[in-house]
Amino acid sequence: MRYAMVIDTLKCVGCSDCVVACQTENDVPIGYCRDWITETVSGAYPTIELELKSERCNHCDNAPCVRCCPTGASHQLDNGIVLVTGDECIGCGACIESCPYDARFQHPDGYVDKCTFCHHRLEKGQLPACVSVCPTKCMYFGDLDNPNSEVSRLLKNRKHKTLAPEAGTKPKVYYLI
Ligand code: SF4
Ligand code: SF4
Ligand code: SF4
Repeated sequence: MRYAMVIDTLKCVGCSDCVVACQTENDVPIGYCRDWITETVSGAYPTIELELKSERCNHCDNAPCVRCCPTGASHQLDNGIVLVTGDECIGCGACIESCPYDARFQHPDGYVDKCTFCHHRLEKGQLPACVSVCPTKCMYFGDLDNPNSEVSRLLKNRKHKTLAPEAGTKPKVYYLI
């Protein structure tokens, strides 16, 4: 089992429902976010293209934030999810510096926080909050190790990319393009 998220950039309309759902579900303090929308403009008139993406922690298979954590607070589960144990975090910020995606933040309560792939919801058989509310159904979630899962089939059949692959982190959030 290796959890992954697949997001169809051709269907995302940038509505930010995923951001609001995450803030509500995870009690994210005002002024901080575990996910966010990016807008990338490419091309030149009259063939300008706008790409909208919902971004978050990539739950990297080769996660520098886990390697650099001096206390073991940042860790990776067998299912590939990267988490922070708040009680063990000393707030040194090494993981924030190491993340090429700027996916972590200092929580006002003194520990580092980020997307958890809604681990608490998965344990109850529910999808991550952001995935479950998307009005265009552009986000998919499932097991990368199962060749018959929806995420595996999408990655087999559609052109896709990950963010900053050159960083060597092996991200597990994929974007259909
Ligand atoms: Fe760590 Fe950043 Fe990768 Fe998330 S995106 S696992 S915080 S390096
Ligand atoms: Fe580990 Fe916390 Fe330091 Fe991050 S801020 S490296 S989670 S102790
Ligand atoms: Fe937020 Fe959960 Fe979506 Fe991560 S998976 S961005 S924690 S709602």
